[in-house]
Parts: sequence; C-alpha cells; structure tokens
Amino acid sequence: RAASGTAAVVQFRRRLENELEDIRGAGTWKNERIIASRQGPHLRLEGGGAGILNFCANNYLGLSSHPEVIRAAVEALEKFGAGLSSVRFICGTQSIHKDLEEKIARFHQREDAILYASCFDANAGIFEALLTPEDAVLSDELNHASIIDGIRLCKANKYRYKHMDMQDLEAKLQDAQKHRLRLVATDGAFSMDGDIAPLKEICQLAQKYDALVFIDECHATGFLGPNGRGTDELLGVMDKVTIINSTLGKALGGAAGGYTTGPKPLIDLLRQRSRPYLFSNSLPPAVVGCASKALDLLMESNAIAQSMAAKTQRFRSKMTAAGFTISGKDHPICPVMLGDARLAAVMAEDMLNRGIYVIGFSYPVVPKGKARIRVQISAVHSDEDIDRCVEAFTEVGRKHGALP
Ligand code: PLP
Repeated sequence: RAASGTAAVVQFRRRLENELEDIRGAGTWKNERIIASRQGPHLRLEGGGAGILNFCANNYLGLSSHPEVIRAAVEALEKFGAGLSSVRFICGTQSIHKDLEEKIARFHQREDAILYASCFDANAGIFEALLTPEDAVLSDELNHASIIDGIRLCKANKYRYKHMDMQDLEAKLQDAQKHRLRLVATDGAFSMDGDIAPLKEICQLAQKYDALVFIDECHATGFLGPNGRGTDELLGVMDKVTIINSTLGKALGGAAGGYTTGPKPLIDLLRQRSRPYLFSNSLPPAVVGCASKALDLLMESNAIAQSMAAKTQRFRSKMTAAGFTISGKDHPICPVMLGDARLAAVMAEDMLNRGIYVIGFSYPVVPKGKARIRVQISAVHSDEDIDRCVEAFTEVGRKHGALP
C-alpha cells in the first residue's frame, strides 16, 4: 500500500488510533446500520430480518421512494445525463436547475432561489457572503452545526442567545444596535427537541430593533403549516422572514441538495460571492428531478402534509397516554424523554429486537441527563405501524423501568 511505512505515517496512524479509542472510551461511538432496501417505513437491514419498522429517517412525507419521484429522477437522468462535471457558472447550469429554483421560490412565495449541493453548504455560504465586520449576527444557542460553522466563517460580530429566550434575544439586539445590520438566525424547528422557534415574537423583536430574520427550515419545509410551506406559514409570518435556507434531502424527496430563497438581489449576490456555490459541482440531474417532482406533488395538494400531521398527533397522544414524556409540540420529531443515557441505549436496542428501528441520543449530542429516543413520524406510516411502535415502547419501557 502507498506510503504505509514511513515514520510520519506510523506516527499519524498511532495518533488516529488513540483518538478513535478516546471516542470509544467516551461512549460516543456512532455505528452505522446498513440498510439493504429502499428508504421507507419498512426496511430490510443487512444481517437482520426484513420488515423492520423505521422511525428514524427525515422522510417526513414518505417521498424518498415515491414512484413518481423515482420516475422523475430516471427521466432527468436519461434526458440530462449523470452530472455536469462543472460548477454552475462555468458550464454547469441546465434548464432543470433554473426550473427548480423558480419552483422553490414559488413554493415559498419568495422572489428567487439558489441551489446548493446541500443545506450544509447553503448555511456555510450565506453568512460570509452577506456580513462584514460592520454587521452583527444573533444566533440561537441550539442552532444546527451547519449554521454555527457558517457563522464561524464570517467576520460579523457574533451574539449567541439562549435557546428560544426572547428576553435574552432582546438584550442582545439592544447591544447590537451599534452595528450596521443585524441578522437573527434560527432553526425553524429544532431537530433534537422537536420544538418550534417562536417566530412571531422573533419577527416582532426584529421589527422593533431593525433586524432581518433568517430561518433554517430543514425540519419544516414540506409539512409544517396548512400547506406545508414551513414554520413561517405555520406561525403566520411568511411576509416577515427575509431569508430561508432549507434542504432537498429530507421531506422533499430525500435525495440531496439545499437552497436559499429570498429577495432577488440577495440571490444574485450569493451567485457572485457564495463560496460553496462558486466552487462546487452542480446538483446532478436525477437529484434535481426528484426534488422538482416532490414540489409538484406538494403544490398540487396538501393531503400528504395533512396526513403526516394526523399520524404525528396519533403517536404523541398515545405515547403520552401510556405515560411517556414527549418533548416538543405538534412536530413529527417526537423525542421520548428518558434522562439516563444507558436506559436510552438499551431501550433502543430492545426496540430493534422487536422490529422497531429507533435511535437513542445522549450526551454530547444532547445535554447531560437529557438522554432520549428520537422517533420520527412519516406520512407513510400506517395507523397500525404507529400503534405497533407505541405497544413496543410500552413493553420495553415497563421491562426497563421507564414506566411503572
Ligand atoms: N440544517 C439542519 C437544521 C439540519 O437538520 C440539517 C441536516 O441534518 C442541515 C441543515 C444540513 O442539511 P443537508 O443534509 O442538506 O446538508
């Protein structure tokens, strides 16, 4: 093997192995289970049985394996090829990229949109492109890692307010009045707790202190609000949120990709300045085809989004009646709060023994003493799937002392 024996490589390997050992020792090692079927409510796991009920994907609307979405991907692949071998501004823009951007803007009722390879990239690119040392960004302390990293890359003055704490945000906005521009950045829905940012109050404060509002809608686009437009629709502030970043890799078909949507000059500027957009390959046509079809399905009817809301309500109310505490409200992310990290791990394992795939989260992913099993509901779970999940939780909870 190349360069396997030099002293530098030997030393490097030893350092890596020590770091890996530290991660194992800290109990934070992440194992990847291998799926041997399509993404969906029923999975086959490699080395395990078929018919595993899946409650841990962000496949909120069940579109990842929707026949029309798959067909649209195949058609785009055949018509436009495997990929562009180019960034957008050299020779990487096809008509389907422009069509999808127009569709995204229309879906969110915004002026324009720009595609990225992921929402991680959209978040990495936006703050640096917009904000200078004259400006300020105010960020919820529990924002997603990609927002945190994006903010790290920019030279604006940084304020971190306590999670969803409007008093703290107001104090920080007062302090930030000395800067040219203030941008409040928050997840619309927070993925660890299933809680929803108080956007009405945030927008009121933004108005009072002359600030702009940015939301990351990865866990909201396609299903929150009466027509699935997101947190801003749910909370009646579509006209008050200036910038939305979101993903095509969760509810909108689940393939990959992300975007920013908002005022046209903002999008024009991102095309000129945003580094992950300028220096990374265009989205593959098949991926564009998936997202485009997912948006068509959502714009035709709100039935899928409504069905997901009903399933979420069924799970949350049955679990609460069984004696569990479910964090958040009305969101398909349903964290079953257990407290103890070991309890969350053994219960998740025992759920899988009963054919239900859920994941336990503990420190450092969530605060110490707040371990949980996160359940994610999808529109394509049947009522029977949900009831089976609740029954298994009840059995496993009793067995391990989480329920009396
Ligand atoms: N923002 C939030 C809130 C997320 O949960 C995620 C994905 O986990 C991302 C951004 C990144 O999205 P993508 O998978 O498109 O990079």
